[in-house]
Parts: sequence; C-alpha cells; structure tokens
Amino acid sequence: MQPVEFENELTLLTYQQDDNEAAFHEAYEAAVESVEADLGEYHALRIDGARVETADRFEVTSPGDFDRKIGEFAAGEEADVDAAVSAADEAFPDWEHRDVDARTEIFRDAADRMRDRKFELAATMSLENGKNRTEAMAEVDEAIDFLRFYSREMERTDGYQFDTGQPTPSQHTTNLLRPYGVFGVVAPFNFPLAILTGMTAGAMITGNTVVAKPASATPLIAHAYADILSEAGIPDGVFNLVTGGGRAVGQPLTDHEDVAGVAFTGSREVGLNIEQSFREQGKRGPVIAELGGKNPVIVSDAGEMDGAVEGVTKGAFSFSGQKCSAASRVYVYEDIFDEFTDRLVAATEELGVGRGKHAETVVNPVIDDSALERYETITDQARRDGTIRTGGSVVEDDDLPEGRYVEPTVVTDIPHDHELAREEHFLPFLTVHPVSDLDEGLAKSNDSEYALCAGIFSQDEAEIDRWFDEVESGMCYANRRQSATTGALVQAQPFGGWKFSGTTGKFAGGYWYLQQFMREQSRTRVE
Ligand code: NDP
Repeated sequence: MQPVEFENELTLLTYQQDDNEAAFHEAYEAAVESVEADLGEYHALRIDGARVETADRFEVTSPGDFDRKIGEFAAGEEADVDAAVSAADEAFPDWEHRDVDARTEIFRDAADRMRDRKFELAATMSLENGKNRTEAMAEVDEAIDFLRFYSREMERTDGYQFDTGQPTPSQHTTNLLRPYGVFGVVAPFNFPLAILTGMTAGAMITGNTVVAKPASATPLIAHAYADILSEAGIPDGVFNLVTGGGRAVGQPLTDHEDVAGVAFTGSREVGLNIEQSFREQGKRGPVIAELGGKNPVIVSDAGEMDGAVEGVTKGAFSFSGQKCSAASRVYVYEDIFDEFTDRLVAATEELGVGRGKHAETVVNPVIDDSALERYETITDQARRDGTIRTGGSVVEDDDLPEGRYVEPTVVTDIPHDHELAREEHFLPFLTVHPVSDLDEGLAKSNDSEYALCAGIFSQDEAEIDRWFDEVESGMCYANRRQSATTGALVQAQPFGGWKFSGTTGKFAGGYWYLQQFMREQSRTRVE
C-alpha cells in the first residue's frame, strides 16, 4: 500500500513560521483564564445521549495546585456499565449500516470543532493533568490528526470494501471488513485527549459503538470530547462515557459479556489482566492494548554531544517522564561517559520545574499521590544502590502552590539489570550506564521485556543502519535532538510497541490500525 499525503495539524510550528509565537502564548493564557473560571462543576455520566446521575461522586483537583478543584464527577458502577453497554448494543445495527461518508462526516466535523477550541482544550489539560502548554497543544493536534486521518482512510478504502469480481462465471464476490459490535475503551491519564480520541474514533468510524472510561484523574477533558462528538452529531448510544474507578467501571466494562472488543492504553499489568480475563470468558474479539515502555537511548562516541544531551534531557523529563515513550535508560560509550553525564546533569538542572500552565515549565507536577510515593521509593533506592547525580527530592518552593512537584533525577552506578533500570517508573527518573561499543549498547537496549521506543545518537551511518536493523523497538529515532524517544506524528510516525509494550504489533495513527476494529467477510452471490 502506497502512503498518500497527509497534512498534520502543527499549531505551534505554524505560529512560529508566521513569526507570531507571542500570539500563541496570548491565546493560550486567555484560554487558561477562561477555563479556570468554569472549573469545579458536576459532570454526570453520558449514556444513550442523556446525562445520568449517580449516587456517588468523586472530586478531581489539579496536580499542581490542590486548591484548584477541577470538578466533581459521577462515580459509575456496574449497573451504569450495563446500561451503557445496552445502549451501545442497541445503537450498533443502525450505525454499522450507515454509509461510510455519513460516519466520516461526523468525525471530520468533530475535528473542525476541536480545531476551533484547541486553546481551550490545551488549557483544560494543563490544569487537569499538569501538562505544559506546548505539549498540551501538540496533544490536541494529534487528536485532530487522528480524526482526520482515520476519516481519510475510511474514505480512501471505501470503508475497506473490495469488489473482487467474478472468480468463475456467474459467481460475484465482494470482500469487506465489518465491525464487531460494542467496544469497551479504557484510556490513561497522560494523553487523555489524543489517546481517548484515537481509540474511540478508531472503533466508531469503522462501525462499532463505544462505551468509554477515561482515567480517574482526567475526566474533564473526556467530557469536552463527548461535547464535541455530540455537537458533531454522533447518534445517541454510539458513544457513551462512564466515569469512575478502574475496578468499579473499567473491569465490569472490559469483562462485560456483550462487549465484543476492547481498546486499552495504560500499564502493562492492567492491560494484560484485561486481555487474560477477556480470553478466559471464551471471547474471540480483539484486545487492542498499548502498554508501557522502558525506552533505551545509545549515545555513541561518533555522536554529536550537544544533540545527545538535549535529546535525552527532553526525552526523559518533559511531562515529568510520564510518557510511555519517555527515555529512561541511557547507554553511553565509555570514552565519553563522564563528559556526557556531566553535561546531562547540567542541562537537567536548567529545566523549569513548575505548573503546567507556565511557559517556562518542562517538568510539571506528577499526577497523583501514588506517583509521589513511587518517586520517594525509587529515589531512596537509588541513593542506597547507586549515585544520584542530580535531583532525588520533592521540590520545596514557597513560590509554588501546594502540589506534587519533584526534581528530575539522573542516576549512575546502577547495574543494567537492577530493577531501577528494568521497571517502568513513569516519573522523571533516568539511569545512565557506560557501554564499550554498539554490540553492548544493543544487547543491553534489547534486554528488556518492553520494546516501545528507542533512540541513538551517532554520526556514523553504518552504526545507525545496524542499530535500525537490530534494535527491538516499535519506534526508532536516530539523532532526534528535539527528543530522543518521544513524539510521534499521525501517519508519518505511527505509534505502538513490540513485546510487552503492546498486544497487536499494529500502530495507532498508521495504515494498519483501523483494520483491527473489524473482521473480514467474503460475500459470494451467484447470478
Ligand atoms: P493504568 O493502567 O493505571 O490505567 C489505565 C486505565 O485503566 C485507567 O483508565 C484506569 O482507571 C483503568 N484501570 C485501572 N484498573 C483497571 C482494571 N482492573 N480494569 C480495567 N481498567 C482499569 O495506567 P495510567 O493511566 O497510570 O497510565 C500510565 C501507563 O500507560 C504507563 O504504563 C504507560 O506506559 C502506559 N501508556 C502507554 C501508551 C502506549 O501507547 N503504549 C501511551 C500512554 C500510556 P483509573 O484511572 O480509574 O485507575
């Protein structure tokens, strides 16, 4: 299949190219003010086009300012999941049989609405999960891209239908892909708009209906997405939103007997449990799960040191390392190990730690108390078993509101097989290890159960070629100064993982993603 051109939404870059970055910041700051003015409201569940109240509620506060209440949200439970699945089930036959264009029109309209509201959506994320402004906007861009790219792919392939003609006289055959039914979609807190949009749009645009559960930390942006879909004309029952806990809502949803398929993005532990439980029920539908990472970077002595320092710093610490794609272990050739590490430490100490909404912030607050506890545990362990070169403490700063601020942390003298260098921590925490050459760097990079993202810094083309061929990783980036391992553009850089980083080997935003939400049917008509 030949890729066809696709234009990504690149908001900040467009402002920069127009020499008008100041206008980007002004628009974002105005949006923060306006979103802040509306925070704190109650949001019910959304089932079959109606708002459904629940007996219990939960409150979300901003991770960077505990006095800032994001809102109160309905705490769904199993009965609400039942009602939502039943609505989705009823809506399915009509939705499946709509023309492809009638479906894509809704998602194209939703993309336009997202575009119109992009600053408000970015500001909402900064307040809700702490993401800094440029990354929040890049996430809105990605969500818009998912809607447009999946619409384009459905239209381009005529909804994946092929008239295969007359294989023998009088037999007329057609091949097509058809949806499964109801999809349960469970999303993480760290890309609460792009990933929720990508997974749900993938399911719905192919003719399935959806019950979605956002992460408990990020229900507000999920409601903004539900508003957009509703304004774009999504029929009642096709998209249902049930907020609430993982066990109270996520588990009954993914275990529900009428849920034909699951799309999940989150931790390996939860994702694999969902898959196992789904299969134990004898269900054969897809479990499309994108899981964690422990992403390695090789810094070769044939590399360009400035780029490597910048790329690793940004890859490891932006959004406080709370990205599945964050760089978390670095293998540096011995002869440049000391120089690289010193410069990495200096660059890390320059990073702005603070609130997501402030322009200078790179390292924002971590999401919840359990992340903070994990940070304290692993930094204690690093202090005991290795050397903390910078960071390692919770930030005490009277100028910051009460929130979960931690220092970006660089650690050396940890063996490669130590759990600090093997487990995903999902925090601003990086281990740096010396290696003698590419053989050792590759062997150690690949010695992981995860295989999501990987990076290399080298100016030696042969070294890069070999690395591309031998590194075990879904996404591979050579000499990427803007970030060693993070950042992906829909269509151009599809996103997914090998090994325990994903269950399907097909990537979001790529040419083989949508087919996963459908099953093939061959139709023969004798004429
Ligand atoms: P979690 O696995 O903790 O949660 C993900 C979602 O699953 C949340 O909505 C959560 O609900 C829900 N959940 C929790 N328990 C259950 C359960 N028993 N049954 C069903 N659903 C459940 O991940 P995080 O939100 O903390 O996200 C971080 C993880 O996501 C990291 O491991 C990261 O690598 C991975 N990730 C992977 C990506 C990829 O593309 N490969 C992209 C982004 C993140 P609740 O919030 O209520 O607990």
